[in-house]
Amino acid sequence: MATFRFHQWLTCEVETTDGTVGIGNAALAPNVVKTAIDDHFAGMVIGLDPFDHAFIWEKMYRRSHAWGRKGVGMTAISAIDIAIWDLMGKLVGKPVFKLLGGRTKDKIPVYYSKLYAGEISAMQAEAEAAIQGGFTAFKTRFGFGPTDGMAGMRENLKRVEALREVIGYDNDLMLECYMGWNVDYTRRMLPKLAPFEPRWLEEPVIADDVAGYLELNALGIVPISGGEHEFSVIGCKDLIVNKAVSVLQYDTNRVGGITAAQKINAIAEAHQIPVIPHAGQMHNYHLTMANVNCPMSEYFPVFDVEVGNELFYYIFDGEPDAEDGFLQLDDGSPGLGISISDRNLSHFEIVE
Ligand code: MG
Repeated sequence: MATFRFHQWLTCEVETTDGTVGIGNAALAPNVVKTAIDDHFAGMVIGLDPFDHAFIWEKMYRRSHAWGRKGVGMTAISAIDIAIWDLMGKLVGKPVFKLLGGRTKDKIPVYYSKLYAGEISAMQAEAEAAIQGGFTAFKTRFGFGPTDGMAGMRENLKRVEALREVIGYDNDLMLECYMGWNVDYTRRMLPKLAPFEPRWLEEPVIADDVAGYLELNALGIVPISGGEHEFSVIGCKDLIVNKAVSVLQYDTNRVGGITAAQKINAIAEAHQIPVIPHAGQMHNYHLTMANVNCPMSEYFPVFDVEVGNELFYYIFDGEPDAEDGFLQLDDGSPGLGISISDRNLSHFEIVE
């Protein structure tokens, strides 16, 4: 997965007869998701009342069940559902988090999510700069996996140790595998990683291997996290009730949008599994603000476009910047509080 890149994005608009427009979005495979929306889902939604969002969601889910369920189908539903929530907020003049339960935090703690494996000195310099920026929680992504043998294991461990040198042990450190390991490799790595006190080890194995997650999490050596490539309420329920993860990280623009996310939040809360949605982005921040069981948000620092995680900064206006490790949502901004930016339009090829 090391070479994984996505340099496309989908925005989805839902407009009411009074001209109010809600904006949703989805990242992965936007050209295919666009076809699913245009050819299948748009016709199920047009003409309905956006405030019947739960019915709309169920209609889209059940009418696409034979071919949708996970992947492209659920991503399309997510984009439409997020747009409907933005629309509802705009129509009543309230931020989305106020419709979801309201403010549960003065401000949202965020963790610095980058520190991709590279030259150790560069990683340490990046961590140092993040500390100076006020962050107190950090996530790094491993660069070596099963095909790199023992030498690769040592390279992985060297980088974790080097980051602990910079951030100390009073700050959180999280470790990301992006599905690049397997159960055997992870079992061998966990005891070596434990002395560095990671808060979690993320996505050690492919998303479909729920039994693998369960086995690794049951070891109790390092908490295992995952879920950003899981779909739907029932998919996340299986991770939760099986204790396959200790931290659930659904991605709102894949899992089924805000309607699905709120149901998953309730299940996770009842099982004492914290939810920290995957990625920055406003839809995740609104959910985090409105749920006591969402202790913090992931935050992608603003960098030049590399993996694709950073693209939303170039597409939308209104995404908040972190200050001293926190970010704030505006009580006075209706909906999600973002708009499609015209700052960088000339750099995009736009397909409508
Ligand atoms: Mg991740």
